[in-house]
Amino acid sequence: MSAVTGGPVAHTPHTAPLIELRDITRTFVTEGGVAVQALRGVSLSIGAGEFVSIVGQSGSGKSTLMHLIGCLDLPTGGAYRIGGRDVRSFDPNGLAWLRREVFGFVFQSYNLLPTATAEENVQIPAVYAGVPHGRRRYRALELLRSVGLEDRVDHLPSQLSGGEQQRVSVARSLMNGGCVILADEPTGALDSKSSGELMALLQDLSGQGHTVIVITHDPIVAEHANRRIELLDGRIVADTGTRGVARTVQLELPALDTPDNGARTASSLGDMWAAVRMAMRALRTNALRTFLTLLGIVIGVASVITMLAVGEGARDQLVESIAEAGADRLSVSGWGGRRQVNFTFDDLDAVAAEVPNVRAVLPNLSGIETLRYGNIDREEVSVQGVFFDHPEADNWPVASGTFFSERDDRTLAPVVVLGASVVDALFPDGDPLGKYVLIRNTPLLVIGTMKRRGGGGPRGDLDNVAFIPARTGAIRLMGWKWLGWFQVRVEDPALIDATMNAIRTLLSARHETEGINIFSSVEWQESMSEAVTMATMILAAIGSIALVVGGIGIMNIMLVSVTERTREIGIRLATGARRSDILVQFLVEALVVCAVGGVIGIVMGVAIGSVVKLVFPEIWISFTGMPMVVAFTCAAATGLIFGLAPARNAARMNPVEALAHD
Ligand code: ADP
Ligand code: MG
Repeated sequence: MSAVTGGPVAHTPHTAPLIELRDITRTFVTEGGVAVQALRGVSLSIGAGEFVSIVGQSGSGKSTLMHLIGCLDLPTGGAYRIGGRDVRSFDPNGLAWLRREVFGFVFQSYNLLPTATAEENVQIPAVYAGVPHGRRRYRALELLRSVGLEDRVDHLPSQLSGGEQQRVSVARSLMNGGCVILADEPTGALDSKSSGELMALLQDLSGQGHTVIVITHDPIVAEHANRRIELLDGRIVADTGTRGVARTVQLELPALDTPDNGARTASSLGDMWAAVRMAMRALRTNALRTFLTLLGIVIGVASVITMLAVGEGARDQLVESIAEAGADRLSVSGWGGRRQVNFTFDDLDAVAAEVPNVRAVLPNLSGIETLRYGNIDREEVSVQGVFFDHPEADNWPVASGTFFSERDDRTLAPVVVLGASVVDALFPDGDPLGKYVLIRNTPLLVIGTMKRRGGGGPRGDLDNVAFIPARTGAIRLMGWKWLGWFQVRVEDPALIDATMNAIRTLLSARHETEGINIFSSVEWQESMSEAVTMATMILAAIGSIALVVGGIGIMNIMLVSVTERTREIGIRLATGARRSDILVQFLVEALVVCAVGGVIGIVMGVAIGSVVKLVFPEIWISFTGMPMVVAFTCAAATGLIFGLAPARNAARMNPVEALAHD
């Protein structure tokens, strides 16, 4: 077996010791406030290339010493210099850099990530070092081959024996060079054969210039080392010093004056993708939980999307109906006072004659009737009583024949002008002009046809109409007794207010009431538009509540997840992850849930809206890009906001405590 080593190899021994501890103490304060002195003043120098074993009873402070040397923990007192530089001069990112680039840890319990393959586990330190994927993979495979695991690269830790797992963790410790290998009872869980193989491997690494420090109980294991240090009650009680030949080959320490400051060297799209894949895997391992969390976001986004689409649809409908009505319209209604005002044709004539700026008066008389020609019936035609100037007043010309005249109206002429759909139905292959159609058994002479308007949409076929003179309808045919409301079209929309006042004055005088209600279509549009905006906002707010509830679900699950994965966080920190890496990892997980939920939510929202549209064609639903972007952004923001607290909890963990978690 030959280990692949990294980094430049120097052949001249260092003069300053690689590791220098002076009077190191470490006191733990337990939750009960009891101070435990794990180290009581340890002074120790270890040169580059030494192979040191540390022995001592359980509880003598070996692991504590190892954690301090490996910068997983900081001393309470004393000074620790590495390569001549005080560790206190490193910030948290600098310490992460030391763990990543200088040290390699091998633990008794292996500490591999259970959901990652052997190869991926080996790659972890290089991921945090920003090594590109291709190079990372190549080196991981090389290292696995060097520890004899070339045919186990795709195995999960649970599919490997203890000895194999420990060799994976040795390969991991070498990923970024592994100048100093720290092994805490590495053979403690191994059988004697695996144990022997592992010690041979460590000896081999020592021979290649790695500084190796092994904690052990086993005297046979300790025999492999050149130097033996014994601890008792937090003090060194024996130190043999290095025996035998001094190493001529040493691995050189990476330059200590250029540890990165948290800025990723190779933070590329590939890295982001790797983070997303890692998040996906973490989420897949808890599929049901992820699904339920997702559901919250899906429902939130879908409801926001649907609500906004309905609101948008209402606005569209409004805009269209106003555009159809025109800005020069006034509606005059008799509902408004204490008693209902019934308008008469005389009232309408008076408005047309006496009020300036009035272009046309449009009565609103209509009924649904069956029209008959010969033996053909056309049911449910909108029969409308209008004035002679209707084609001009409504911008709707005749196609053939003529519209009726004012005289026709005054003389109650039995004439009718048909819309295109009625013509199609009653006269499929003949000219309707000059023919008689029956409405309520009264024959009416067809004198014209209207131009086809087409369209139709949710409000029905506009061409399914028959126009009759208003007075003919009122007196001879339909028995319309009075007009509840009518419309006025003005010449100059700029003077519309004065016209409104004049009409109000006139009609109030004629009916001796104040209850004349006049409004312009513009006013109507404005107030309706406000109401629609308001309603849309309320709907969207209700939708957002679902989103917030979804966000709380995310936070809850992420908090649980962080606690469950404390050990994983410890492993990542020990292999050189910065706090920001851990933060980003958990944020990405929250974001992935929200992004996936957002996309599904948008699809669901559109689907729900489309179904509603199909079932209730009269409801206008309008999907626009904006609400989707907004809802998706909100979902992502939800992930960020609610994922932040759990992610920060994770990032602030103490590596040693996290590793001790089970
Ligand atoms: P060893 O590895 O030699 O068995 P440790 O270094 O793990 O010993 O522990 C040394 C002493 O410090 C023990 O008495 C242990 O109980 C105590 N100790 C270690 N870690 C903590 C901690 N986080 N809080 C309180 N006491 C601790
Ligand atoms: Mg220990």
